Amino acid sequence: MKNLRLVISLGLALGLAGCSASQEPPTPAPDPAAVEKAEQEEARVDGVRAEINRLADGYDYDAAIKLAKKDSAEQLNQMASGLEEEKGQVSAWEEPNNIPHLFFHSLIVDPGRAFDEGSSSQGYADYMVTQKEFAAILDELYARDYVLVNPEDFASLDGQGQMEYRDIMLPQGKKPVVLSIDDLSYYEYMEGDGFASKLVLDKDGKVRNEYVDAEGKTQVGAFDVTTMVDDFIAEHPDFTYRDARGLIAMTGYNGAFGYRTSASQYPQSKTLEADQKKAAEIAEAMKNSGWVFASHSWGHIATGTVSMDRLKRDTKLWKAEVEPIVGKTGHYIYPFGSDIARIQRYAGERYQFFKDQGFGYFYGVDGTTRTWMQQGDEYQRQMRINVDGLQFAKELRGDRPVLGSFVKVEDVIDPARE
Ligand SMILES: [Zn+2]
Repeated sequence: MKNLRLVISLGLALGLAGCSASQEPPTPAPDPAAVEKAEQEEARVDGVRAEINRLADGYDYDAAIKLAKKDSAEQLNQMASGLEEEKGQVSAWEEPNNIPHLFFHSLIVDPGRAFDEGSSSQGYADYMVTQKEFAAILDELYARDYVLVNPEDFASLDGQGQMEYRDIMLPQGKKPVVLSIDDLSYYEYMEGDGFASKLVLDKDGKVRNEYVDAEGKTQVGAFDVTTMVDDFIAEHPDFTYRDARGLIAMTGYNGAFGYRTSASQYPQSKTLEADQKKAAEIAEAMKNSGWVFASHSWGHIATGTVSMDRLKRDTKLWKAEVEPIVGKTGHYIYPFGSDIARIQRYAGERYQFFKDQGFGYFYGVDGTTRTWMQQGDEYQRQMRINVDGLQFAKELRGDRPVLGSFVKVEDVIDPARE
């Protein structure tokens, strides 16, 4: 479909070529100021064209058309008709209450260190996937026409405060999926075990990982879910619906993104304020590129079973220590999948408390069903499939497999697991 956008520009270029005279009249020396101005304009048009294409690749045709039409350059105005045609080929996803959700933890970059004899190795094998596995999963999701969506795009409150499904407009064959990553904290216990150590901003303000390899050398690049997804989307802009990335479930007790930002846990830290500032800058950059933050409780507590008192204290701490970094959020991702109800609708004290705290999107865990969603009057609920070593093992045993419509487990599993 991208061809539609190209044909017109090509025709314009050919038309211009036909105008050039065969015998060149003597030309006056070009005015350097005019040349510079023309070059600047050309660069500007190239930039706007790239943005129009990026918006259209991400299925936001209205924004792309608006940008093309309002521009002063005629060649951009002319893109509008091709874009209108592309827009005419999308339709609303027919099952808004049937959208799957996959979640991951931080990726194992060096299986040699993660799967060594250390005390955490079994946990890593069970709850994490390797970088190699994640790369294969992304490729396969994309090949199967999945597109990342933001839950706020398929369900949101209407003017009366009622939760309602919204249309996800996709071309024929494309399918929505939600992605999330839990515990993007680079917890203390993970240090030296072959994971990225933190998030950083590079000189262009782009979020990257810092990773210390087995030889102790520090590398900067894409070594975890969020940075790999960012790079994947830069290469495949049609893998995201309107700039969606995924949800990021944040606790507070070890800080955020590898920075020990918790004032209650690190009162003696000399870099506390600088770390908080750095983490907030990273969160801002991530939100600008489409990531959505969620509370995962401050202390990774069993939300559904702890006392109300504990839940209240924990939420207060999250608001005091994590919210200043990631901003306000209406999303709550239950630690341990510890939901506040079974399949019945939410009601009662715990729900009322969450509602009063501003939460309206809730996510549990169910690795045995492809999708499960529930819409209440004022909330949206969705179950997530854990993509990890435990799930791989379950799938390979043939025990209630659910990953088959996303990936072929045999193809993505890392031989380093054996
Ligand atoms: Zn967690």
